[in-house]
Amino acid sequence: MERIQNAFGQLIQREGFKERYEALKQEVMSHPRVQEFVNTHEEVTSSMMERSLMKLYEYIGQSVSCEDCPNLDGCKNMIQGYHPHLVIQGKTIDIQYDRCPRKVAYDERKKQQSLIQSVYIPREILEANMATVDLGDPQRFPAILAAEHFLEEYEPGKRVQGIYFYGAFGVGKTYILGAIANALAERQVSSMLIYLPEFLREMKGSIQDNSIGDKLDAVKRVPVLMIDDIGAEGMSSFVRDDILGTILQFRMLENLPTFFTSNFDFKGLEHHLTYTQRGEEEKMKAARIMERIKYLAKPVEVLGGNRRV
Ligand code: ADP
Ligand code: MG
Repeated sequence: MERIQNAFGQLIQREGFKERYEALKQEVMSHPRVQEFVNTHEEVTSSMMERSLMKLYEYIGQSVSCEDCPNLDGCKNMIQGYHPHLVIQGKTIDIQYDRCPRKVAYDERKKQQSLIQSVYIPREILEANMATVDLGDPQRFPAILAAEHFLEEYEPGKRVQGIYFYGAFGVGKTYILGAIANALAERQVSSMLIYLPEFLREMKGSIQDNSIGDKLDAVKRVPVLMIDDIGAEGMSSFVRDDILGTILQFRMLENLPTFFTSNFDFKGLEHHLTYTQRGEEEKMKAARIMERIKYLAKPVEVLGGNRRV
């Protein structure tokens, strides 16, 4: 033991070491996050900080609240998806790692995906981002502005109207929803993007196994719901009245923001909802669904070229 201490003493006296140690100490102590910790924890003493210097040094090298990372895959932290916070443990300061905001949002989405398989989000949509949405085509501006406006206005619990994005195939409607979902996820707001034709197929398949109630419940209650491609599904009175009608009615009463994309404008969609696959005409029932959609979302046309070609 004595020998080790001697060796350490010699090391400290070695040329340059002391300066480097002091510089490191200076860097750690003056770091804004360390300062904030000191200011909010009066029990912290300078000897405590000296003792915990290496922990503090580790701490300032990590990203906190995802500030230094581009995305979850590019997370720079020692344990991907986990960020550190400082805790006092006896006479020293220690680090604890918790899930970072992006990891929390990612896990939440995984959980939703496991509950509803049709929450199927293509990879490119998952990576959609308000900051990188291509603004090249000015015809797209009104749609982007509407999305930005929603993000500015929305906070959990507040009634903010969603958006009904309509327009031709491939103009980027679903992509914009993905960008909104990601912007919300960064703020810890969970949303669900359901591709309606697939979701309805799954609901019909669940009638026998009793899971229909749980699935419907998850969609009804999610803070922000995005119904992708309404109008592309095979319409039946069961789908329209018992599934869609139930979801929309609940969200209306609870003031939960709801988005849609469709190839149809309101008039076209109303026509689609009026004529079920069996050719029945039910104007009143279609009008009732339309009323709910119009209450929940404001129509915004998405223009521009087909980006899929
Ligand atoms: P829609 O839902 O209107 O049919 P999509 O949102 O699926 O169209 O977009 C079609 C394709 O173009 C997709 O592959 C999507 O990733 C891509 N895309 C759409 N908008 C953008 C954008 N703003 N920036 C980059 N890629 C985009
Ligand atoms: Mg789409």
